[in-house]
Amino acid sequence: MVSGLHRPTKLVIDRQAIKANIQQEMQTLPQTTELWAVVKANGYGHGMVEVVTTAKSAGATGFCVAILDEALALRQAGFTEPILVLGITSPTYAKVAAVAHISLTVGSQEWLAAALPILQSGALTTKLAVHFAVDSGMGRIGFRDAAGLQAADTFLQQHVEFELEGLFTHFATADEKDTTYFKQQVAKFQQMRQALATEPRYVHVSNSATSLWHAACNGNMVRFGVALYGLNPSGTALSAPYPLQPALTFVSELVFVKQIQAGDAVSYGATYHAKQAEWVGTLPVGYADGWQRRLQGFHVLINGQYCEIIGRVCMDQMMVRLPAQLPVGTKATLVGENGGQTISLQDVADYAHTIHYEIACNLTDRVPRTYL
Ligand code: PLP
Repeated sequence: MVSGLHRPTKLVIDRQAIKANIQQEMQTLPQTTELWAVVKANGYGHGMVEVVTTAKSAGATGFCVAILDEALALRQAGFTEPILVLGITSPTYAKVAAVAHISLTVGSQEWLAAALPILQSGALTTKLAVHFAVDSGMGRIGFRDAAGLQAADTFLQQHVEFELEGLFTHFATADEKDTTYFKQQVAKFQQMRQALATEPRYVHVSNSATSLWHAACNGNMVRFGVALYGLNPSGTALSAPYPLQPALTFVSELVFVKQIQAGDAVSYGATYHAKQAEWVGTLPVGYADGWQRRLQGFHVLINGQYCEIIGRVCMDQMMVRLPAQLPVGTKATLVGENGGQTISLQDVADYAHTIHYEIACNLTDRVPRTYL
């Protein structure tokens, strides 16, 4: 996707905030517990390579991504730290991963059996490091019973092509007040882990929420994601044990300003009609940038004032009602602080009836990321 370098719409990412969030978390972890930064989906929209560089300088010792291509992109960028692909990769690419020293998630013995001939084809110089995923209740991927896990472990031990590097699970409700289901998952994982002949180097269960609110069950690595970007994984349900610093600001500028009269309509479908003479500004941001169409009626900040998004959000532009005539070039803040007021990703998510994760990930590559 072409990046809009000649347009005044950009994301500003505060690297110090990312660093501070990671360092605060690391202070709560024992020396023996590593923090791996979860940087999938372009670092939750913040820019994967910059986030990795920052996380590394803050003390992260490994990285988690969702797909093999993200891991390969990090290798291409020169990072040599451990990288775990959290999703299921086709066994076809087992060798690609092994050669690049990328660890893969495995949730069935069938996967190992399918990957074996791929690893055996040609000379193998490196083993494929795998992390067994246990489905303790997330219902997504992984071994669901001890017998299956044990059989896969036995198969793995019999084949030098593999190395068991990790065992993990993922919790469905670690960000909720009610801990009933969470505790059931913990119990299931504790029971399942007994199935392994030997515990691997990494046993890990914690996403941000688990590490923030249930640190007692962290293994020797945490998969720290959304909180490193300064976002509370629970939304507003639980308060974080330390202040998280949001790293992302989204800004643009007025590119066109006009006065419309009572009854005049704005944007597709003519869903907005001015009640009186109104000043209207156009911002070069739209749903192709990830600013969803459903944000009609939400607001941006201009000179510390909330300005309503009027009419439908278009693909590349949207209109806001201004408090007065303002010059073209006036700064508008879609996410972040402006004139003492703030719009958070959580505010945007609340209005759009979704979670801040989704708002951040949806910000497309057309919007350039700049870094403080
Ligand atoms: N671990 C796994 C398996 C995940 O899928 C994710 C994110 O979805 C994470 C860790 C990180 O979660 P969070 O961003 O909530 O910290």
